[in-house]
Amino acid sequence: MPSVGQRNMATELKRKKAKRTWAKAKVQSLRIVGDCRYCSREMTNDESFVVFASTDKNGNREKAHYDCMKYDDEKKNKSKFDW
Ligand SMILES: [Zn+2]
Repeated sequence: MPSVGQRNMATELKRKKAKRTWAKAKVQSLRIVGDCRYCSREMTNDESFVVFASTDKNGNREKAHYDCMKYDDEKKNKSKFDW
């Protein structure tokens, strides 16, 4: 009796077993989102930053570190009420 058919079935089974779902990459891809409006440093998407409705000369939305914005806000408020 030829055993070719059986061998084929064995490889078929192996192929089915090898099927697996790829684990989702948990490593966050670090992207540069733009330059900070206040300190002009590059910001990456792992930092907390804010996006302004205003655009810069290139037509891109202005962005800033959350901390820089907060600091600027505090400065503004201080000068406003410092009289
Ligand atoms: Zn900044």
